[in-house]
Amino acid sequence: IESEWQPFQDSVVPFMGEYQWQAGPIVNGQRLKGDTHEITAPYDRNESVGHVDWATAEQVNNALDIAAQAYPTWRDTEVSQRGKYLLDLADKLEANLGELVAICHREAGKTIHDSIDEVREAVDFLRYYPEQAKALQTEPLAYQGFDGQAQSVTYQGRGVFTCISPWNFPLAIFLGQVGAALVAGNTVVAKPAEQTSIIAYRAIELLLDTGIPAGVIQLLPGSGPVVGAPLTEDTRIAGVAFTGSTPTAQRITRTLAERDADPVPVIAETGGQNAMLVDSTALPEQVVRDVLRSAFASAGQRCSALRVLYIQEDIADRVIGLIKGAMAELSVGRPERLSTDVGPVIDQTAKDKLLAHIEQMKRSGKLVTQVPLSEDCDKGTFVPPTAFEIRSIDQLSEEHFGPILHIVRYRADALDKVIDDINQTGFGLTMGVHSRNETTCAHIEHRARVGNCYVNRDQVGAVVGVQPFGGRGLSGTGPKAGGPHYLYRFTQASVNVQQVG
Ligand code: NAD
Repeated sequence: IESEWQPFQDSVVPFMGEYQWQAGPIVNGQRLKGDTHEITAPYDRNESVGHVDWATAEQVNNALDIAAQAYPTWRDTEVSQRGKYLLDLADKLEANLGELVAICHREAGKTIHDSIDEVREAVDFLRYYPEQAKALQTEPLAYQGFDGQAQSVTYQGRGVFTCISPWNFPLAIFLGQVGAALVAGNTVVAKPAEQTSIIAYRAIELLLDTGIPAGVIQLLPGSGPVVGAPLTEDTRIAGVAFTGSTPTAQRITRTLAERDADPVPVIAETGGQNAMLVDSTALPEQVVRDVLRSAFASAGQRCSALRVLYIQEDIADRVIGLIKGAMAELSVGRPERLSTDVGPVIDQTAKDKLLAHIEQMKRSGKLVTQVPLSEDCDKGTFVPPTAFEIRSIDQLSEEHFGPILHIVRYRADALDKVIDDINQTGFGLTMGVHSRNETTCAHIEHRARVGNCYVNRDQVGAVVGVQPFGGRGLSGTGPKAGGPHYLYRFTQASVNVQQVG
């Protein structure tokens, strides 16, 4: 990490400490005022990061009109030109890496390492989708030349797309959605999460600096009920890309299903109840390394994070002992320290919910270990990394989005029952498997209903363009982000058949 951080340290430092940002709605290229909210750093609630104006109902209405007016011209703009704006933006993100890393770190409380990854992933999305959009244009049809006829298929944007994003990947997911919608030929109204609107605002400022027509992208910070809900209910929208919690996605889907007008696609990427299965052939030291990373990286605030670790009982005592020892070494604290493993959680609401879950688990489960918090953590919203032993995954009724690990022992002959229990939760995002038995790995991969399965490694992360990411069931609608099919749902297709012979 030291070597990654050194080359641009000087460009981050000016944006640390007292530096303040002002953000707000951007409609038709104009920066607007609204209701002002102060943003404070998750690691120190006395440190102001800046102020964000939330969009008013009138601004939301206006933004929808402008996006609708801009749509026909944008739809008819060459794909390569649409892509060029995104590629320019990718270059601008890299040129402003220091500032973006500082915002991500201060606003979302991410470690420097995670903040660098965040910008990198955003850049990857912005370079990948323009390539995919070109491929989509030239897609061959299976019956080319059939019976003297020529077929062609064209994919056009759908209209105004609403993009709603979470705080846990405040740049990568935000720009992944916005970039995909734009390059596919839609105009966009984007609502970032309340907690992380500054980084979204800087991203849209940089996008406008590319010379993109101002009408095609509207930024509307604000709360879910006041700004998000109208953006999913309005009849001017033609699609919704949503990443966030499962209950919010369900609410949006229900609203759109009741709509009489044209059906509107919802591309939802949501929560998980992710498990890892460890059998007795696994290498315990490797398991421990991957468990710690899967459960506690980003303070457990990744949708892919490990929540329930199943260990075959023959090796359970040994592995649990090793996990306990390794957790004692975790360094919890201020995320600008390169030695920090676990930083704060996003806000007081999240902290309160996680602490309440820990208290409840102390009553119904068996505490394995809890990492004590240092004085360093007093000013921020930190949650102690905690591990419990529980009986089964069905003791957890919802996703607990933080550094809490649940451990279950299982008997070798109960493997299928364990997989069924996991499937039964209805979530289907990630699963980890640790085994040196290839048949077991293949069996678990086949039987588990998850979007992404990780074998003999940690279960966080996905490389754009190489490892498409997305869940099944309650965890998402697909298609997978960062994969070759993602853009289709942002388009509508027409097939043209012509007699040529
Ligand atoms: P959230 O559902 O609370 O909020 C997500 C977004 O929806 C925010 O912008 C919020 O303002 C908005 N919103 C809230 N209520 C709304 C409403 N009624 N109408 C429209 N918009 C509304 O989720 P969060 O806490 O910001 O994010 C964490 C969740 O996101 C976790 O569940 C995590 O698993 C999930 N997530 C999933 C993926 C994935 O790829 N599957 C990736 C990242 C995060």
